Amino acid sequence: MESLPCKGCRGLCCGPVPVTGQELKGIKKKLKSMSPKSRSELENQERHFGTCIFYDSINDKCGIHSARPSVCQAFGLHNNLVCFRKPEAAAKGNWYAKETHVGILSNDYTWKDFK
Ligand code: SF4
Ligand code: SF4
Repeated sequence: MESLPCKGCRGLCCGPVPVTGQELKGIKKKLKSMSPKSRSELENQERHFGTCIFYDSINDKCGIHSARPSVCQAFGLHNNLVCFRKPEAAAKGNWYAKETHVGILSNDYTWKDFK
């Protein structure tokens, strides 16, 4: 897979993203598997307005990487999800969701929904 130069972007493309019911369950499980300390550290980080609630600004990475929604996994690699830092990586056709989204993470679902 083509790799993206994400280090240093500081969550630039991590805003509110659509999420499915299954993905919400996966995120809940992921958060439960973290120690209360790491969970609370992630929750209480300062973020820019509009940055995803799970972006880990201390470590400059997704704070729930293995459970991130499919649109996050697809970002940068498809025609309709182009990363401006490496547009040539968007070599695949348009990305379409395989399941229906139930809402927008960071807007419709916030930390209180994962407790
Ligand atoms: S996908 Fe592109 S814009 Fe997003 S963090 Fe990675 S390099 Fe930066
Ligand atoms: S879930 Fe992770 S990869 Fe997706 S927008 Fe949030 S911080 Fe970024």
